[in-house]
Amino acid sequence: MTKTVTLDHVSIRFGNYLAVDDAHLEIAGGEFFSFLGPSGCGKTTLLRCVSGFVQPTEGRVLIGGDDMRGVGPNKRPTALIFQNLALFPLMTVAENIAFPLEVRGVSKKERRKRADELLDLIALAGQGDKKVTELSGGQRQRVAIARALAVQPDILLLDEPLSALDLKLRQHMRTELREIQRRVGLTFIYITHDQGEALTMSDRVAVMSRGVIEQVADPVTLYDKPKTAFVASFVGETNAIAGKVTARDGDVVEIESASGLRLRGIAAGGRNYPIGETCLLFVRPEQLRPDGGAANVIQAKLAGDEFEGNARHLLLDAGDLRLRMMLVNDGRMPDVPDGVVKAGFDVESALVLPDGPLAKG
Ligand code: ATP
Repeated sequence: MTKTVTLDHVSIRFGNYLAVDDAHLEIAGGEFFSFLGPSGCGKTTLLRCVSGFVQPTEGRVLIGGDDMRGVGPNKRPTALIFQNLALFPLMTVAENIAFPLEVRGVSKKERRKRADELLDLIALAGQGDKKVTELSGGQRQRVAIARALAVQPDILLLDEPLSALDLKLRQHMRTELREIQRRVGLTFIYITHDQGEALTMSDRVAVMSRGVIEQVADPVTLYDKPKTAFVASFVGETNAIAGKVTARDGDVVEIESASGLRLRGIAAGGRNYPIGETCLLFVRPEQLRPDGGAANVIQAKLAGDEFEGNARHLLLDAGDLRLRMMLVNDGRMPDVPDGVVKAGFDVESALVLPDGPLAKG
């Protein structure tokens, strides 16, 4: 059965430390929902709060509308998968999957039947008698998912389950996980610090920083319409240029950077940007192009370039600004007379946001 999960003004303190600050949102039944944020932002704590291993200091968690206060982890309709899969190496694949059922006293015949169904689901039909040590990393991952699903939870909680896998397998498993979620139709709550994972798999993503949920949105909205400087700099690559507001005309804000660059972008969130206020203008590398005739132009020196087959990344220095430009074409190098690139971009492709902390790295 699919169930909603409601975080009703949840705050979690460890002593004086506020690990989660007033999380308030509802996850729909059958939704693939991710919490995305850097290490230490509180996402694991929040997940443990849904599973019942951590209690909210304030607020409450509801599952399917039921208040979970006083309901222990074993009594909740949730199952948890960790990065460390903890499969039993001496057991077969089917025994691993059926283990939680054995603990609950389910008959051998019923266990076998359920294990076979789950093997089918994870595309390992007929491989139940193999030892888990004979499986690849990705197959083991699928067995861990099947084992979590054996007890028929309503909600599957996944805590960075792909981080131990190598890059290629991780990318492959994104697709698999999403397909398994669609097939079982359960609510999946996924924790990750990897924005690529969150964007590719999720229906919606909550971006967290320092215990605070900064924005909840679908992946496209997060990428195109970040609400804070942190979200703009954490989700996808971007160039951030600080400046003071010098003019405003409708939605368009002009800023002047410390080095005297005058640039225009779209004001985010329909907010008022008073003249003189310090703001940040964000423009994605793929929006920059070598074009001295564009609405915004930054004259820069070429500091490096990286060829990536279908794209080329230019590193540009403009005074104290380091910019990245991504050319998505046949990857050919543009003409760069005297090492100077006129980095142009449209007003509509730049977003002006209030000043705030940026994501590191
Ligand atoms: P990571 O990806 O590194 O696991 P995270 O975003 O999941 O990071 P949490 O594990 O939720 O972060 O931790 C959030 C903060 O709360 C951290 O500063 C952590 O040190 C602190 N914290 C977590 N659990 C406890 C605890 N039981 N007692 C005290 N502090 C804790």
